[in-house]
Amino acid sequence: MIALNLNAILKELPSGVKLVAVSKFHPSEAILEAYDEGQRCFGESRPQEFAVKAVQLPRDIEWHFIGHLQTNKLKLVLPYASLVESIDTVHLLDAVNAWGEKNSRTIKVLLEVHIGAEETKQGFSPSEVKEILGRAGDYPCVRFCGLMGMASHTDDEASIRADFSRIKTLFDECRDAFPGLVEFGQLSIGMSDDWRYALDYGCTEVRIGTAIFGLRNNI
Ligand SMILES: *Cc1c(COP(=O)(O)O)cnc(C)c1O
Repeated sequence: MIALNLNAILKELPSGVKLVAVSKFHPSEAILEAYDEGQRCFGESRPQEFAVKAVQLPRDIEWHFIGHLQTNKLKLVLPYASLVESIDTVHLLDAVNAWGEKNSRTIKVLLEVHIGAEETKQGFSPSEVKEILGRAGDYPCVRFCGLMGMASHTDDEASIRADFSRIKTLFDECRDAFPGLVEFGQLSIGMSDDWRYALDYGCTEVRIGTAIFGLRNNI
């Protein structure tokens, strides 16, 4: 099933849009099934689980960390992640930069934007995003590569599209306002149920789990 699902999505995905196969809660064997089909980019969201998989699995996998990250878990994530998509507080950003300084590394990140309707969703407001990018120089070990967002959890196409439209507008405004941030070019929106909509809003990557690997038994 995994190979079938993956290839169906890849066939539909425009060539400029990267697929992050979200493998959280699924075993390494499932990841290897997708790997054998040529998939190299995977997304994980739990530090402990991610660190175990990153050590076990082939070195040429490009890992994106997409989950909530506590500052005391950085050492489980930053050595292995090519991109941390879920920077959602200044406190975390400070800690990531400090880890980079200590370990002589630069860390590529996306800022997570609160675009959905839910009160509980993590992420920065548009004004917070601009404030941070305006002082990107405070973070010499961080590369700001773009924005990540999750649409409201709803079946209502119009509200999902409105969420995506808002983050796309913010993304464009940031690129205009901060041309010096040359790596700021990634817009990560779209999941199993809404990635086809995200294509209409200039996403450069989609993060798809369930539609590839099936249901997770975490809930
Ligand atoms: C789990 C998760 C996904 C994938 O969700 P699916 O609905 O299974 O495709 C994408 N992005 C983030 C941030 C996630 O936590």
